[in-house]
Amino acid sequence: MAMKKLLDAADAEIEAAVARADAILLRGLLYLINGDEEAASIPQSTSDADFRGPLPTIVDPEHVALLRRKTVEFLESYRDAGAPNLPVATDRLNRAMDLALGVQIPEDERPMWIEQMGLDPMARSFQWDSAYPEPTEAQKQGFLVVVIGAGMGGLNSAMQLKKAGIPFVVIEKNGGVGGTWHENRYPGARVDTPSRNYFHTFATEYPCPGSYCPQSVNQSYFDWVADKFELRKNIAFSTEVKSVVWDEDAHIYDITAEGPDGQKCWRANAVISCVGFLNRPNLPKIAGAESYKGQIIHTARWPDKPDLAGKRVAVIGSGATSYQMVPEVLKLVGDDGHLSLFQRTPSWCFEMPGYLKSFSPEVMWLDRNLPFMANFSRLQVSWVVSPAVLLRLIEIDPNYKHPHARSEINKLTRDAAIATMTRMMPGRPDLVEKMTPESPPFSSRPILIDSDNNIYNALMQDNVELVTDGIETITPNGITTVGGKERLFDIIVYATGFKANDFLWPIDLRGRGGKSIGELWEKDGARAYLGTMIPGFPNFFMIYGPNMNPFLNGLGVVEMEELSTRFALRCIGTLIRQNRHSVDVEESAYNRFNEELDRLEANKIYADHRVTNYYKNDFGRSAVNCPFDIRLLWKWWRDPADAEGISKISDPLIRPYIGQDLRVE
Ligand SMILES: Cc1cc2nc3c(=O)[nH]c(=O)nc-3n(C[C@H](O)[C@H](O)[C@H](O)COP(=O)(O)OP(=O)(O)OC[C@H]3O[C@@H](n4cnc5c(N)ncnc54)[C@H](O)[C@@H]3O)c2cc1C
Repeated sequence: MAMKKLLDAADAEIEAAVARADAILLRGLLYLINGDEEAASIPQSTSDADFRGPLPTIVDPEHVALLRRKTVEFLESYRDAGAPNLPVATDRLNRAMDLALGVQIPEDERPMWIEQMGLDPMARSFQWDSAYPEPTEAQKQGFLVVVIGAGMGGLNSAMQLKKAGIPFVVIEKNGGVGGTWHENRYPGARVDTPSRNYFHTFATEYPCPGSYCPQSVNQSYFDWVADKFELRKNIAFSTEVKSVVWDEDAHIYDITAEGPDGQKCWRANAVISCVGFLNRPNLPKIAGAESYKGQIIHTARWPDKPDLAGKRVAVIGSGATSYQMVPEVLKLVGDDGHLSLFQRTPSWCFEMPGYLKSFSPEVMWLDRNLPFMANFSRLQVSWVVSPAVLLRLIEIDPNYKHPHARSEINKLTRDAAIATMTRMMPGRPDLVEKMTPESPPFSSRPILIDSDNNIYNALMQDNVELVTDGIETITPNGITTVGGKERLFDIIVYATGFKANDFLWPIDLRGRGGKSIGELWEKDGARAYLGTMIPGFPNFFMIYGPNMNPFLNGLGVVEMEELSTRFALRCIGTLIRQNRHSVDVEESAYNRFNEELDRLEANKIYADHRVTNYYKNDFGRSAVNCPFDIRLLWKWWRDPADAEGISKISDPLIRPYIGQDLRVE
């Protein structure tokens, strides 16, 4: 159904669209737009609880109808007035947010949630202002920032640097932007965090076509961002950074890269690494692999339209990628083909009805035509993954004793997940047993599954086999498991993930005195101060660095990246403005931050002793997940330039200020 824009829309089209809107959002919006007290006074109830707990909602049909009628009336009169730009009624915003969520947002965290809505697209970007007076053009032009990577993080850095007028170049090893989504094109690839907040806050106006969008949409979005902000001309594509070496005398990094025309070098005052940690494929070392005569594919190197029809396919690995991919590969294999899933450890799955569905045209129409609808929807999905809602899911209760669960809610979550798989695999207790992880829920990446098209349905098909015997060798024609049974395959797919714990690898990064990053991290793996700075490596900032994977700590990767980038740019801005040459983190601050990190991590379910996935590195700790509440990080990352700012935070632990934890020369 094609819908006309508001100015051309008939009353019936408006009514049809509003009929699809979530009433509780309309309550907040009507109050924001009109100060409508009658709408604001409509009471709420709570929905049935799922793993996120019960959520506020408005279900009384009369109340829902009233809110919809008022919205239709507003939209019709707004259309008739020519749909002028509506300013945000800032005096009503706080209450409108509370009404839309059905909760009172604590005042000390409200600014974070206002940023999150993207009402001001630049709210999370670095800007010259009274705290950061703009330097002269000559000062800016004397500075060069190199950004490594053009995924979500690199594009965000590039946009902010461009807006600030700071010269920069982005170096990207791939031929296009999008990072993860450029590389992961396997069938079924899609986000498992809500798409509405998988958009940059500075670019929310892209039409969001579904709750959890597939790879193609994510790729299109990042292409659109690169074009909209004209970032491509600053990107050196197909160019891989090999080394980044600090020149102590010149206070400059020497960057060496390999591009289409051979070696290329840059000398940069600062480096922002946006290399992610999920793009160096982990290829398992299986004896005999080199003798295999068929095709081996890693999921992150999926070929364009491989011919799978009627083929015998082996999938090795059982994480999020594998479970997303198996049902889709099965469709391509068809009834004449066969699929074997080789699984060492199962993963926990959680049913998300509508996971694979697109939004209706009406929902997308409202996003574009009802003022602030997209912003409020973003707030709503963000709140559902906020620390207030989710943090309790990953905390260990030291007094709770159960062989496979670490808290009461963890046990309930486990029971619910087992009930789901039992329902989806009726009459197959053998499969339920094999698909039940030994370690507790949230000790590995939780996998969202659709109600009707998912890994459990796939395993029920006659032409699918779940193999839990260990793999012994790959033979010229197939795979032999422990005990000697050989199965024959035309294609083997490695769904074996990435070298997630090898941060920055294989870049040769050297800081003061020629010290390599490997030396700093040799004790127990990758660490950073605020996930961003590393002592002895001045002017080097990591985005999505060690322990910055948001894992039910509130909000998501977009927020972690935007906040840490703004922090990096404030440090860089200070250097430019004050004609200084380097900013470094004190070793004591790095240690203090990491002691706190270890203390918090010990209480997280992903630290469970049974964990054998990428959430744990070779030293038995997680260098990946973030144990800090996002509300705390948001405060810490806020203002490095202002040494006085300590009084604003009243948290003596982290003092991310120039002259305190940060040393400027
Ligand atoms: C299959 C998959 C699904 C995911 N789903 C979700 C999800 O649902 N929600 C979520 O929040 N996160 C998800 N993630 C995590 C995802 O990586 C982040 O959300 C996000 O894409 C990170 O962006 P980034 O720019 O930091 O890193 P990346 O997207 O990894 O981009 C890094 C870029 O750096 C480039 N690069 C690396 N090394 C070099 C070098 N030496 N020289 C030059 N360029 C280099 C890479 O080519 C790449 O383009 C998923 C990851 C994977 C692999």
